[in-house]
Order: sequence, then C-alpha cells, then structure tokens
Amino acid sequence: MIVDNLTRILTTIATAARRSGRHPDTVQLVAVSKQVGVEAICEAVAGGQMLFGENYLQEAADKIPQLPPTVQWHFIGHLQSNKAAQVAELFTMVETVDRFKVAKALDLHAKRLDKHLSILIQVNIGREKQKSGVMPEETTELLHAISAETNLRVRGLMALPPFFSDPEKSRPYFRALRELAQQLAVKKLFHDNDAIELSMGMSNDYPVAIEEGATIVRVGTALFGSRMKEGVEKK
Ligand SMILES: *Cc1c(COP(=O)(O)O)cnc(C)c1O
Repeated sequence: MIVDNLTRILTTIATAARRSGRHPDTVQLVAVSKQVGVEAICEAVAGGQMLFGENYLQEAADKIPQLPPTVQWHFIGHLQSNKAAQVAELFTMVETVDRFKVAKALDLHAKRLDKHLSILIQVNIGREKQKSGVMPEETTELLHAISAETNLRVRGLMALPPFFSDPEKSRPYFRALRELAQQLAVKKLFHDNDAIELSMGMSNDYPVAIEEGATIVRVGTALFGSRMKEGVEKK
C-alpha cells in the first residue's frame, strides 16, 4: 500500500512540475515519517524513497540507526539549541532554523563534526502567533547574521502556512514565500542564489505548492496513512 501511495505521489509531483514548466527532478519528496514505525519506513525505502523527515529528535535517534546509512534525513520539527549536537550529527538538512542562537549552535557542532550542514530558514509566512518561524521582515537580518557561520549552508526557505481544507487558499502563502526568497536572492543571502530551495506543501496541498515553486514537498499522511489511526511507534 505504501509503495502504491508513493507511486501515486511521485506521479502527482511530476504532473504538477510539468504543469508549471519544470522538470520533475526539480522537486524532492521528503517522506514525513513522524510517528511511523521502522517497518513502514522500510517499505518506502524498498519502493525507492531515500529521503525522510522527522519532527522529534528522540524518535528519530531511535529509528535512524535501524535504516540503511544511504537514507537521508531532514529535521522538520521545532529545534532547541541544546539539541543541536545530535541534530547536526543525524540529519543532512535542518529545515526549521528560525533563530540565530540555534544556527550558532548548529554551526558549532557542524565544525566539530567537520561537516557542512545544509539549513533552511523557517518563515512564519502566515504570521500566526502560535507558530514557529521568523517573521518575513526579519529574515534579511537573520540571514546576514548567519552568513558568518562558516559550516552552515543556507539553501533556502521553509514554511508551514495556515491549514485550509481547500488547497487553493494556501496558494497566496506559497507565492509569498517564493517572492520573499527572490528578494533575498537579489541581496545574495543564500549559499547558491541560483538554486534556492523552497520547502512548502504537505499532503493536502503539495501540487499547489509545486505550481508556486516548491522544490521540496513534505508529505506524511498521503504516503503512510493517518497518524491517528496508525498510532505511535509500531515496533
Ligand atoms: C507532519 C508534518 C508534515 C506532513 O504533514 P501531512 O499533512 O501528514 O503530509 C509536513 N511538514 C511538517 C513540518 C510537519 O510537521
């Protein structure tokens, strides 16, 4: 079932990419595996999926060693600087950097590990009080500060806009994130200003996000099924 879901999602991604005049390879699928057991993740790996996203560090630290080392992991949860050492070690990209303190801590540990760590800046594009993310107008300042952190590679922006059951209602937020990224690219604030990553779109709205320029979509439920029903940590 998971492999069928994967095939369907990859087809939808490719169709949405072509519809917006882009090659399907320009969009990466992050399979969001929070609260999903190792067995189900293995099924997705067997189907060819090699990139996963995890929200909770402890859960990820338990699961990651049980999967092949060629599998890559993005951290997509709320991050505290005291967890930076483990995050820098386990993940190839941290999508949720929204404070200088966290960036500084990640850089310190990336240096210790002698690696370059890719990060995205999480932007609170819907200006929601309860959500993480830097406010859009504060992004320039944060990027300037981070540019001194030599072992971090700021690849682009990530957002988790307000949820709507009608995905068309998410479109203006996706567009706003892309426009913000374009403004920042003019100021040369990314590691590669000609290849900016935009992580936006989830199960309910990823085709719309791709139409608005997403290069990374984070899909959980559409791949693994409802987390409520599946329960926690199938062992
Ligand atoms: C859970 C989660 C997702 C996946 O959501 P689905 O609706 O299950 O596809 C994507 N991004 C983040 C940051 C998440 O926490």
